[in-house]
Amino acid sequence: MRKFYSSERYKRLPVALQNAFVTLKGAAYSFIRKGFDSHALNAMLLSAESLDQEQIRAMQYRKVVSLLDHAFRNVPYYRSKFAEIGFNPGDFKSLDDLSLLPLITKEIVRDNAGDFIAENYRRKNLVSGATSGTTGVSLTLKMDSRLIHLEHAFARRQFRWAGLPEHGSRCALLRGDMIVPAEQNTPPFWRYDAWGREMWFSAYHVSELSAPYYISELERFDPHIIFAYPSAAYSLSQFAAEAGRKPEIRSLRGIVTSSETFLDFERRKVAEVFGSKIFDWYGSFERVIFIGTCEDGRYHLFPDYGFTEFLPSDVDEDGVEYHEMVGTGFLNRVMPLIRYRTGDTVTLPNGNTACGCGRHFRQVSSIIGRSDDAIVTPDGRRLSTLAHVFKSTPGIRRAQIVQDTIDTLTVRIVRGPGYNEAGEANLIAHILERTGSGMRIEVIQEPVIAPGKNGKIKMVVSNLPKRE
Ligand SMILES: [Zn+2]
Repeated sequence: MRKFYSSERYKRLPVALQNAFVTLKGAAYSFIRKGFDSHALNAMLLSAESLDQEQIRAMQYRKVVSLLDHAFRNVPYYRSKFAEIGFNPGDFKSLDDLSLLPLITKEIVRDNAGDFIAENYRRKNLVSGATSGTTGVSLTLKMDSRLIHLEHAFARRQFRWAGLPEHGSRCALLRGDMIVPAEQNTPPFWRYDAWGREMWFSAYHVSELSAPYYISELERFDPHIIFAYPSAAYSLSQFAAEAGRKPEIRSLRGIVTSSETFLDFERRKVAEVFGSKIFDWYGSFERVIFIGTCEDGRYHLFPDYGFTEFLPSDVDEDGVEYHEMVGTGFLNRVMPLIRYRTGDTVTLPNGNTACGCGRHFRQVSSIIGRSDDAIVTPDGRRLSTLAHVFKSTPGIRRAQIVQDTIDTLTVRIVRGPGYNEAGEANLIAHILERTGSGMRIEVIQEPVIAPGKNGKIKMVVSNLPKRE
């Protein structure tokens, strides 16, 4: 669909017809994503939210047993792996027994893709999804329409937590779809899906000049929810603040974000400018882990989406422990991923603290690094926890770290008010603390850092040769 938006045919349509097209596409996708039993799925998800910890463990145990049994019977890769290590799903007595099974990685799945597909699914009924593969290893997964419906239901849970009304909702989107041709430099920088009552704002056109138009249109449209890429929401907030604009969106209940690491200072800025709560969610293409944000502003793992384990990965100079998430996904029975290493790191709260929202879903303190955001140090460490180096340097409007060789980093900075040399020296010192002194760091000033082809602004761009 992205292709169609960038086609000459679409670009040449008048705005009204582009709106009509966005509406038609919205209607079609709404049916594809929801399926026919969305109410039943929603009810199922809702009922899980009132379970206590013991009931949640019991539910997860049942789901893991069912998945192991299915994998053993129908999935060649697991059948032979289980035989190799002498594991029988009948021996599985508690969730802790998962540690008996080997971890799998993206490389393993890619190299054995055919063997991961369950034999009891007809291949012609399956759909494929692939990672963009801009960095690291790309991966193609097989799935069925059931997975799409479930995935949609879980995303709806996050929107419900954020306060999206069940009926008559209005949603503004600020994400990666190229709905407004790149060549266009006058408003409207948005298109309207009248079917879904969704206003699609272009993440590519946010600039100092266009920001006031975005704000005015947001005020007029008056959405309940803004669903945005963190980088786009942050840019818009920056420009609005610098222009002295404070958006007044009366119905706004929350800003839902996902798909990129959202830095603390960026998040605070967006919350302040829009006077709104932020509901950041973590999901991944592999669909093994979903982390949502509740009304109390805390991250919760969705226990009915998958079972998550945490591998200690790193401790920083402040003693903060980082954990890599390993996921066993419940949704994809076509291509089950059991103990899948996501490469993404989080920090965890000490002990099991209660949350004001009343749900007993396990909490995560912060989502630190995505494997896509990693650099490699001269001594061979992979650091995906660099996001925090910017927090004590004032006046950074936008930053990006580019690694071209194993011992050089270029930090691209778009300066804002308050930026100074002391702050820059501080920034370099912070990076060196993490990388070791063997890294050469150059800071360069940029007028702007533009989003990539997918509309996102990557925190880290790695131009190192791909790993094997
Ligand atoms: Zn909560």
